[in-house]
Parts: sequence; structure tokens; C-alpha cells
Amino acid sequence: MLQYRDIRKALDDLHLRRGDPAIVHVSASLLSQVRGGAQTILGALLAGIDNLLMPSFTYNTMVIPEVGPADNLIEYGSGRINNLNAAIFSSDLPADFEDREISEFFRHYPDVTRSDHPILSFLGLGLDAALSMQSVADPYGHIAYLRGKGVKILLMAKDASSIFSLHLAIKQSGRKQFTRWALTSQGVQECQFYPGCADGFHKLFFYMEDQLKQIQVQEEVWYALPLDATLETAERLIKKDPYALLCNDLQCEKCNLIRKEIRQSGSAG
Ligand SMILES: [Zn+2]
Repeated sequence: MLQYRDIRKALDDLHLRRGDPAIVHVSASLLSQVRGGAQTILGALLAGIDNLLMPSFTYNTMVIPEVGPADNLIEYGSGRINNLNAAIFSSDLPADFEDREISEFFRHYPDVTRSDHPILSFLGLGLDAALSMQSVADPYGHIAYLRGKGVKILLMAKDASSIFSLHLAIKQSGRKQFTRWALTSQGVQECQFYPGCADGFHKLFFYMEDQLKQIQVQEEVWYALPLDATLETAERLIKKDPYALLCNDLQCEKCNLIRKEIRQSGSAG
């Protein structure tokens, strides 16, 4: 079993400094590997990092409309029954993504606030100004706000596909993203720039060189990488090769649709 001090040491080994804000992605698989579970994990995190963000995604707010834009990988009209069970987003709505347990624990900590994107909200401690920059119109506004501020991305037993911030680089590159819809207290809201497939994000690590810190913690690898270098590297890769960071699954509908758009636009040269 991992103990509090093991997590503190891991954060030290990853060169995380207390004053550097961090965007933290923690696998729920750690819960069973750490003595004291979520409380120990969060206690160690907050003892080592003053200001942090963590996802608090709520996919059960999503609804499927009757009509919408083409090439969006949604079967319009197919949600007539499921839409009735969709939740209305509010700041109290529990997260329902795969790693929700630790995020939910964090949500109830004192002084933790939440952004109000109905699907892709984040929790934050000491980063209210960043959180306020995320909106339905700009789902990556908080990440953009944090550029140039010495922010680290921390992956605790998570792989590169969980790096939400990379979807900002994708958006900046002009690559196609998707439109989804979610229930809010103001009714159904259209959520643009919804992320595409992240399964090819691991290809980024090869280009990060010594900017990427990684350590083995029991069976898993933990990573830390600077937000600025991560975004700059991704933007450079996509500029050089419009197909960069797409996944290798030949059946991946999202990546295949993006390849088709790149071919049609002729931007692949
Ligand atoms: Zn893919």
C-alpha cells in the first residue's frame, strides 16, 4: 500500500513545487492502492501544491437534439428517451466521469470552487480567476488563462489521453472539434469545441524531451509536464503535420473524420 509520505516523495521527485499551480488528473485506480484512500491522496496533494485544478466532468447532462450540424458523429433524434433522464447542470451536481471519486472528495473541501461548463467543469483551489474564464463558448478559457504562469500538468496513474489542456492546442490549430448539447438551468445549451479523440496524445511525450518528468509508482507511471511547453509542442507538431496526435485506430470515427477534413481542405500539402 502507498502511504502519505510516498505520494509526497513522488511529487518531489516530479519536481512539483508548492508555488507552481497544477492541473491534476488522478486515476481512481489509486484509491485501492493508497492507505486512507482519497483523503490521503488529497492531503498529500494539498500539502505539496498550493493551487490546483481538477476535472469534475458531468456527462449525464448531455442531450441529443433532433437536428444539428453535419459531420458531428451524433445520430440526431436518437436521444428522445435518454434525454428525459439527463441531469441539469448545477455547481452541486456530482461528477460522473471515470475518476470521479477523488474529484468528488475534493469538491467538498473548504474554499474549492467550480467552473460552470455544463459538461467539462473544473474544480479549483486558489484559481478562481482561471475558473471564471471557462464558459460554454470557450471550454478551454481557464487553460488559456493559465498559460505563461508556470503551471504544471500532473498525471497520477493517468496517461497522456487525459491531458485535457491539449484540446486547447487542437482548438488553436483550427482542427475540427465537435458540438454537443447539455441541460442547464437556462435550458439546452450548445457546447462548441467539444474534444475529439485523445488516444493519440501519447505521441506528444516523445517530443517533450527533458520537459517531461516521469516516475514509476508501484505498477503505474506518474508524469509531470509544464503546461506551456506541452501546448507549444503540440501546436508546433500540428503546424508541421496536420495529422499529428491523431490515434492509430483505423476504426476511430473521430480521427477518421478529421483525416477526411484535412484531405478535403488540402492542408496536408
Ligand atoms: Zn482516435
